[in-house]
Parts: sequence; C-alpha cells; structure tokens
Amino acid sequence: MATKRVLFTKEMKKTHTILLPNMLPMHFKIMQEVFRHYGYRTELLENDGPAVIECGLKYTHNDTCYPALLVIGQFIDALQSGKYDVDRVAVLMTQTGGGCRASNYISLIRKALVKAGFPQVPVISLNVAGLEKNPGFKLSLGLGKRVLLGVYYGDLLMSLVNQCRPYEALLGSTLALADKWVARLTAEMKSRKHANYKTARRNYINILKDFELNLPRTAEKKVRVGIVGEIFVKFSPLGNNHLEDFLVKEGAETVMAGLLDFLMYTVNTAVVDRRLYGMKRTRAAIMRLAYKFLHKKQLDFIKMYKENSSFAPPTDFEKTRNAIKGYISEGVQMGEGWLLTAEMLELIESGARNVVCAQPFGCLPNHIVGKGMMKIIREHHPGVNLVSIDYDAGASPINQENRLKLMLANANRELREQLAAEESTADTTPIT
Ligand code: SF4
Repeated sequence: MATKRVLFTKEMKKTHTILLPNMLPMHFKIMQEVFRHYGYRTELLENDGPAVIECGLKYTHNDTCYPALLVIGQFIDALQSGKYDVDRVAVLMTQTGGGCRASNYISLIRKALVKAGFPQVPVISLNVAGLEKNPGFKLSLGLGKRVLLGVYYGDLLMSLVNQCRPYEALLGSTLALADKWVARLTAEMKSRKHANYKTARRNYINILKDFELNLPRTAEKKVRVGIVGEIFVKFSPLGNNHLEDFLVKEGAETVMAGLLDFLMYTVNTAVVDRRLYGMKRTRAAIMRLAYKFLHKKQLDFIKMYKENSSFAPPTDFEKTRNAIKGYISEGVQMGEGWLLTAEMLELIESGARNVVCAQPFGCLPNHIVGKGMMKIIREHHPGVNLVSIDYDAGASPINQENRLKLMLANANRELREQLAAEESTADTTPIT
C-alpha cells in the first residue's frame, strides 16, 4: 500500500526541528548553520553504533541498500530516543534523481517511519532535479550558494586533516585546529557580509597557512592509502566503521577526493546524457555552464594550495575524467559510475598505490565499476594494492580490519624496501 505523503508546511518551518543524517561531519556541521541562517531549525544527528544498525534492520526490508538502512536507522533511533517532540520534527534526505535506488530512499524512509509509529513526521527531499516539493522548504539561490561554500570549506578541511593527522607532533592537534576553523566558518555563515566567494578565498588561504605554519608535524614517511567507494560508505564513519580512524591508527595516511568531485560528476552527467543518449538539450546547456563554474573554482583552489602551502592540492577534475580513457565509458553512470574507476586510477597515478574500495554489500553498480574494474587496473599498473571491502549490517568488522591489516603489511614492507633503496643510492652517490 502506498504511504501517504505528509507535507512540510510553511507553519512547520517555525515549529519543527529538521533532523539531518550525518555523512560528512565537518561539511555537514557548516551546512547545518547555513540552513539555520535561512530559518530552518536543523539538527545534525550524531547517533552511531549498533543501536542505529538495529533500528535500520528492524524497519527496512532486508534487501535495502546499506546506506539507506543506516540513514533510516539513524532517524528512527533519534525519534525513539525521547529527545525530540515527535509531533514537531521532520527529517531531510538528499534525492539524486539518478537511475539508482538512491532516488527512492525518500519513499523507503516514509514507509519505515509509518512502521515505527511516526506517520506524522514529514520527509523533506533535498534535490536540484525538481523532484518532490514542500511548501515550507525551498532550495533558494542564496541557500544553494552558501551550501556550496560549505562544500568548498569542508573539502579543504578534510584534505588537510588527512594530510596532517598521521604526522602531528601533538596527538589531537590536527582535529583541534580543524574544529577551531569549523566553529569560525559556521559563525561566518550567518553573516551576509562574509558568506561570499571573496571571503571564502581569504579564509581558504588563511586555513592553508594555519595548517602549514602552526601545526607541528614529523617528517616520517608513511604509507598512503586511497579511499574510494559508494559515497555514503566512503565518507561516513557510521557507514564504514570509522575506516579513516582505523587506517590512521594503523600508521597510514588516507587520501580521498572531496565532495566537489562528486558534485561535478553529477552535474556532468546531464552533459554526457545529451552527448551519448540525446537527452534534454536545455538541461545539458545549463549543466554545462554549472560544470564550467565549478571547474573554474576548483582550478582556483588548486592555485591557492600551490601558492600558499606544501600540501597536495585536489586533482583537476578534467584530469580525473580523462583517466578513464581506455578503461570505461562516461556513459556508465549508475551508482558512482565511472567516477569510482577514475578515482582509483587517479590515486594510483598520484602515488597512492594502495586503494581501499568501500562498497555496500550487494551494491551491484559499484561492484561493477569498483571491484569489477580492479583486474584491468592491475594489468595496467602491476604491483598496485587494491582491496575491496564490503560494508553491511551482517559484515564482521574483524574481517574488514584483518583484510586492511594485510594490505597495510604489504604496503609497509614495500615502503621499507623503497626507503632502504633510496638510502643506499644516496650512500653510493659520489660527492663532487
Ligand atoms: S549505489 Fe548501491 S547502495 Fe547506492 S542506491 Fe545504488 S545500489 Fe544502493
């Protein structure tokens, strides 16, 4: 039976708390403040652990995609916690509009809410494809602009944390510095004067310099491990059993592309659809302009990295796009599509020859473009260390960790051999 849709009305904007699922902790903290600035009473969920998974399992069908199960579990666990007035709460979820099942998470959430005894809770769809609309929620241009600033800042902080945390001289100093900036940026988001690209550029440079100059780090050499995968399990600690923390604890440096790449991939999809499948001309033209805009910004970020720090900048997305030539077509767009393959190739070319592909168990599209592409990638890049890890409510964290430890053992051995070879070359180089 179809579940009746409860609208989020204009009145609810004043009375209801909107719960946000937590995919990217730093990005979403900044974005939460953006929504608040526009009058929405948002709250970013922090609940984690087995209780969330149990809730997800209880209120979804057992073949539901793991990211959907977790998001639903996080919402229902929060609603059952007693922390909220359940008659004055709504939940918000992104809706991609793509061909994969992620476009249907909204109806799955609604069904689960009814089953859990919360039929009155409105589910708001956050989408740019003109899918579901609600009278009390509007993704205006100003709101969208600030959300985009949140993506820029979140990506920068995430990249710097990844590059600094394994080498910090004082335990916890990297996350403390990142938290300081998150607090400052969220405060700035409230001001019209500061929520613009000019201020963002200034902040960007100041953040780079702050991490470069004020965060003492050691000069150790560590194994660099790339992370790719389905977007939720790639980024969310809830989805990947705190994969980044685990790898850092085991002595590795993690490397991953930011949310902007995924955004550019999504925008580019409409252009590719037009080129390959003759889809809508107007949509493609608009998306082409949007792509150019985002790409220009990305090139500006790369320039700022190079001019103001010694940190590795993000990769030019055009280079990422071109990396797939000879491997996979841009027409492959289900799940993370060709982007997942491109990110593996790009990581390898940038020197991160150990790559973890994080995938929800049973996620067919990403198994094709992830695990399915590993054989051909290994043929072209002998010696690379590619590991595919499945995440699921039934998957054993011990098994996941053992496979990661095995990968790290090989990677550390190779690093030691490489350092020894470099040392012996240096010893035998004649002094002129
Ligand atoms: S990408 Fe995978 S996990 Fe995500 S909706 Fe599609 S099948 Fe499900």
